[in-house]
Amino acid sequence: MTTSDREPTATMATTDEASASATNTREIWLDGQWVPPSAATVSVFDHGLLYGDGCFEGIRIYNGRIFKLKTHLQRIYDSASRIRLEPAYTIDEIEAATREAVRRNGLTDGYIRIVFTRGAGTLGLHPFHCPRSSAFIIADDITLYPEEMYVEGMPVIVADRPRIPIACLDPKIKSLNYLNNILAKVEAIDAGVLEAIMLNIDGDVAECTGDNIFVVKDGHISTPDPAAGMLHGITRRFVMDELAPSLGYEIEERRHGIEEVRTADEVFLTGTAAEVIGVSSIDGKPVGSGKVGPITTELVHAFRRLTRENACEN
Ligand code: PMP
Repeated sequence: MTTSDREPTATMATTDEASASATNTREIWLDGQWVPPSAATVSVFDHGLLYGDGCFEGIRIYNGRIFKLKTHLQRIYDSASRIRLEPAYTIDEIEAATREAVRRNGLTDGYIRIVFTRGAGTLGLHPFHCPRSSAFIIADDITLYPEEMYVEGMPVIVADRPRIPIACLDPKIKSLNYLNNILAKVEAIDAGVLEAIMLNIDGDVAECTGDNIFVVKDGHISTPDPAAGMLHGITRRFVMDELAPSLGYEIEERRHGIEEVRTADEVFLTGTAAEVIGVSSIDGKPVGSGKVGPITTELVHAFRRLTRENACEN
């Protein structure tokens, strides 16, 4: 059974969240109760379902420890606050339930999905006619991308569809409304690849459908500035603040046009499910040598080493 955080990215049956199905032995935390997957259901009147009105997190468990749990909790409470959703549970209650979900399900390596929905209400949009928001936590196994992809790299395309502008729905909100990403992902799938680079409406590189993006040129690493409009990835931050500096690299945040991504020496993506993965080609044209470059390879290995040996919970 698989679960993946690659909301918009993974298309392989083995890692696509759509293919994820909790085993029957799993216990799901649903509004304070532990229930089997078959009983873990939400109302058809829940605005999370009716309108994508809610927010979520995907989190990894490495070696029995929950990677950056507190940062993920802060992000989901921040997303909730930005959509004026009042979680029915405190951050401490959700933290305790998350840890208990990992323990009960006997997971030492895996994936956690925390979801807050607006809750059941009327058929109208009015979010405040939903008396109580709903929360659930799923902890399950994760199947990673095939190992070859980490060695050979991942082909991607540039989506025609731009990332939704900050002024419309700030992509830093990890909301349940992922259609912008899903439609760009459909472009990728139609092109026979797993991920698409998304530009903002000004034509600057923003991020990918389910991953953040980095560029290597002449030994320097850079990444789009958050002002481009993106999810502020927790893996991205970890790579910028901890992983790259531990290897002696500094990462610059700035505007990126797509041409400099196409002509980079190396391009790599980061995300909770993907970790760090190199890009081999963009729109069928090789990036650099067309192989995963040396700096990306170093980061891929260091990421694995650090997370598995020393999974940092904060
Ligand atoms: N961008 C988008 C749109 C995403 O969905 C994700 C995955 N959640 C990311 C970037 C990577 O973020 P993180 O490292 O926090 O998983």
